[in-house]
Amino acid sequence: MATTATERQLLIGHEWVETGEWIDVRSPYDGSLVGRVPSAGADETRRALDAAEAAMSEPLPAHERAAVLDRVAALLAERQDELARTICAEAGKPLKAARVEASRAVSTYTMAAVEARKLAGDPLPMDASPAGEGKLGLSLRIPIGIVGAISPFNFPLNLVAHKIAPALAAGCAVVLKPAGQTPLSALLLAELELEAGLPPGWLNVVCGPASAIGDVLVEDQRVKLITFTGSVPIGWKLRERAARKRVNLELGNATPVIVAADADLEDAAARLAANAFSFAGQSCISVQRIYVEEPAYEAFVDVFVRRVEALVVGDPADEATDVGPLIAESERERILGWIEEARAAGAEILTGGTLEGSLLRPTVIAGAPTDAKVSCEEIFGPVCTVSPYATLDEAIALANGTRFGLQAGVFTRDVKSALRAARELDFGGVTVNEAPTFRADQMPYGGVKDSGNTREGPAYAIREMTEERAVVFQL
Ligand code: NAP
Repeated sequence: MATTATERQLLIGHEWVETGEWIDVRSPYDGSLVGRVPSAGADETRRALDAAEAAMSEPLPAHERAAVLDRVAALLAERQDELARTICAEAGKPLKAARVEASRAVSTYTMAAVEARKLAGDPLPMDASPAGEGKLGLSLRIPIGIVGAISPFNFPLNLVAHKIAPALAAGCAVVLKPAGQTPLSALLLAELELEAGLPPGWLNVVCGPASAIGDVLVEDQRVKLITFTGSVPIGWKLRERAARKRVNLELGNATPVIVAADADLEDAAARLAANAFSFAGQSCISVQRIYVEEPAYEAFVDVFVRRVEALVVGDPADEATDVGPLIAESERERILGWIEEARAAGAEILTGGTLEGSLLRPTVIAGAPTDAKVSCEEIFGPVCTVSPYATLDEAIALANGTRFGLQAGVFTRDVKSALRAARELDFGGVTVNEAPTFRADQMPYGGVKDSGNTREGPAYAIREMTEERAVVFQL
């Protein structure tokens, strides 16, 4: 192993564990070895569940849970540079985007600590019905049990934080399986949890074949909730298989944006160019489909394409880079195939569409048919489409015309149009005069339709990770 590469162990209970088998983590940019982690299977996952079960047998009071979360937030703030460089190395995320992710993880932990301190049930208005007369009632929020967490490669720190921090705030122990390509950020976060004083067993991290670990999380009755962020087919299949558990899904999107003719076109073009291509479009809310009102179409496309061509494409470790590599060669091939399919169906490639080593140049496609993959499936790459529309009705129908529903956006100066779009766009979140790639970590964030069935953000995730127990006193 190269001397600069990082070797990390799995975390089970309070022990750093090796298994004798290793997974190499390689840079998506140049294939160099970035690190390696042990490969675990069903046995290690069961041992992790044993440790989580033992931890939950001695509940931690809310103030202790909150104090650990606050200390993790402080450690995350201290180690920002190392965290950003780890994300950059293993995911190929440009350093400036990796720095944003690392700083957002501090917010996620800070918010979770606040929520741990506020976690409480409600008084119940017992005499609001004749049946409750003479009784006093309250609800308690009880930790649901062990949380099995499965995370994707594209936000290897902050999306792990969005699972671990609320679970610990709720009083639940966690067994985490990070994405195979990006285990190092998660294991570094686990190290910070221990440094912050998290007692044994509350967090366990196992890496290895997804199906072997996933099967245990699905089948073991001690896991009460699976929180999954990743692709649509894998997520819904997990939910189908774990019918008796709560399975919270945060999945993909084919993010649409409506740009009305009265919008600030320069501002819209700048925001959308940045947010269609940041991390090479590998965000679940990366801007994918841009619908522009006809009178403004030519002017918008002109400014937008200029903005896109000004993006710096290159080595993710370079501070100036906006757009880095895709996670894997197979992804480059898939996306080139989708671009070719659109071109063959009559679409025009306004810019991009070519490879330079591991880098796919930011690509803008005009005139793609509505049934081309680039128009109706999740691209998850540095590609977006532009199309004109005549009426807001038509734009909303086009935006709603896929099976996804995570976030959507509208740019307009007209309050009525903005409100109408906010009501009629069938998505979990709608941004106005901001790219729908925007997310602040305290927001309720999640999708409808195929995009998911839950909301993340510590306050919302904690509700999912606790059961409401009614307590009734006869007076
Ligand atoms: P993915 O291939 O679905 O993988 C996600 C996680 O699931 C990884 O840890 C993966 O492990 C694991 N996994 C794969 N097969 C499994 C199985 N049979 N049982 C249990 N776990 C299994 O997704 P990805 O490529 O990492 O991430 C991209 C997708 O995530 C996109 O669709 C994107 O839109 C979505 N996403 C959604 C959100 C959101 O909040 N809504 C946020 C970010 C990303 P391995 O890596 O080891 O295969």
